[in-house]
Amino acid sequence: MNKNYVKRYSRQIVLKDVGVIGQKKILSSKVLIVGAGGLGSPVADYLSRAGVGTIGIADFDKINLSNIHRQNLYDSNDIGKYKVDVVKEKIKSINPLVKIKTYKKKITEKNLNNIIKIFDIIVDGSDNFKTKFLLNKYSIKYKKKFIVGAINKFDGHVFTFNFKDRKTPCLKCFYQSEPSDEILNCEAEGIMGPVAGIIGNIQANEVLKKILNIGIDLNNCILIINLLTLNFRKVRFKKKKKCLCD
Ligand SMILES: [Zn+2]
Repeated sequence: MNKNYVKRYSRQIVLKDVGVIGQKKILSSKVLIVGAGGLGSPVADYLSRAGVGTIGIADFDKINLSNIHRQNLYDSNDIGKYKVDVVKEKIKSINPLVKIKTYKKKITEKNLNNIIKIFDIIVDGSDNFKTKFLLNKYSIKYKKKFIVGAINKFDGHVFTFNFKDRKTPCLKCFYQSEPSDEILNCEAEGIMGPVAGIIGNIQANEVLKKILNIGIDLNNCILIINLLTLNFRKVRFKKKKKCLCD
């Protein structure tokens, strides 16, 4: 690693759990972020600062004024531009060493099958269950690590999965049936800006832990956070006998 690399990442390289070996793992990792909104913005921000080698971003939306209060990669000058185009520019200026792949499209069964193969870890920053379950299905199919976030009002949920081991439950095992997207609808339900940042940053931290293979993850648990009461709790759930994704 040259001097510039060492200096840029020095504050994390100095950590016993990271070191030069860990930094090299981060530099060679490939992470796909689906959704460049309230969750995807902080995830892309911190992962690019940490030096994730390749970051993929999928989103088909343009930035509008109501996004700015929580989607922290964007500012008022970005309104009307495609999110993936702006993310690409922002990441380039945060850390020019990161390779960026953008997908300006809605993620579907057809395109995900090809896109997902390129990456090691999949981050869900989407705002609908159809996309979350699609990512779940293909993360299982290709044995990926999968980090899910969901936000509503003052509440956040985080799941982390490693589908190398199919004894672990999946996202479908947690939800009895497909929940209504209404609860993820920031327009109707409302969302406090920092809630998106906190959940997105937990997702980014979980990605780095998975790359480094350190700490304890959430396997078999959901992390439920309420930022009005500051209650953080883990709730265990089991793999369904007839997991629909097997
Ligand atoms: Zn399942």
